[in-house]
Amino acid sequence: MKILISDAFDKSLPQKLARFGEVTDDKSQLPESNVVLVRSKTKCTKEYIDGAPNLKLIIRGGVGIDNIDVEYAKSKGIQVNNTPAASSIAVGELAMAMIAAIPNRIIEGHTTMLQGRWAKKELKRSELYGKTLGLIGAGRIAMEVAKRANAFGMEVIAYDPYLTEVDHATLVPLDEMLGKADIISLHTPVTPETKGMMNAEMIAKMKDGVIIVNTARGKIVNEQDLVVALREGKVRAYGTDVWFSDPPPEDCPLLTAPNVFMTPHIGAQSKENLLRIGDEVERIIGEFTKK
Ligand code: NAD
Repeated sequence: MKILISDAFDKSLPQKLARFGEVTDDKSQLPESNVVLVRSKTKCTKEYIDGAPNLKLIIRGGVGIDNIDVEYAKSKGIQVNNTPAASSIAVGELAMAMIAAIPNRIIEGHTTMLQGRWAKKELKRSELYGKTLGLIGAGRIAMEVAKRANAFGMEVIAYDPYLTEVDHATLVPLDEMLGKADIISLHTPVTPETKGMMNAEMIAKMKDGVIIVNTARGKIVNEQDLVVALREGKVRAYGTDVWFSDPPPEDCPLLTAPNVFMTPHIGAQSKENLLRIGDEVERIIGEFTKK
């Protein structure tokens, strides 16, 4: 069996997988490969899959499989797996870090100090304690965030039309959540329903001065509408790890809008998570070879 590691995984992975056959990171060996391991960089389009006549298994190390044409892969008899549970803690911690850092003005404190300014008077913080966190999507990552927010003394409410009960938050209708939350954190996949859902109409239903955090997907947000709301102060701040495309184009309006706090899609990039993903990949290939 030939295994092609096409994107960045933990450096221990080739050794872990050696018992299954030949492991390579040489992308020119795609035509002979039986298993391809991708994260988000490699796009497994129709053309990519057509260039891999020996492919039997694609593993996406991570959650979202929007970089894989799953239907087409399946039509060619190729199994597609992801590692959905591995990244929940890593992404949940990043979301919580943004939720804590933005109202506590940590990033502005740091950047104004770097500029040689002593902004003590202008940097008024607000506490998380007693505030309401609204989650859109109440799956694995959202619940990791909810547990941490509960520990800060926040009330956690969530909107998820596909769930009837969750452990660490109170499920409420969307409009109720939008009207009550001081901070809103996005945790849905991109679907026809969620694409662009965070638009002017939705933002108008939120509290004035709301903070929005997005560690899910850039495409959930209507960038133009959000930038208007940031300029008007309706949205106090937007913390985002995710972009319409990776990296965002130079003219992405969010890059120059006020009060946007950004990271370059590092939600799944903790070293612990990369090890967890490696363990999952090993398990999936192990089960695949037993078939
Ligand atoms: P999950 O499947 O456990 O949870 C997603 C939840 O969204 C589900 O409970 C589902 O019912 C809900 N949902 C679907 N459509 C909805 C809608 N219209 N309104 C409200 N809720 C809706 O997934 P997860 O593991 O929690 O991951 C969530 C998302 O996080 C992924 O889809 C992925 O896009 C993103 N993610 C980002 C990173 C990163 O690096 N920043 C890493 C991993 C995952």
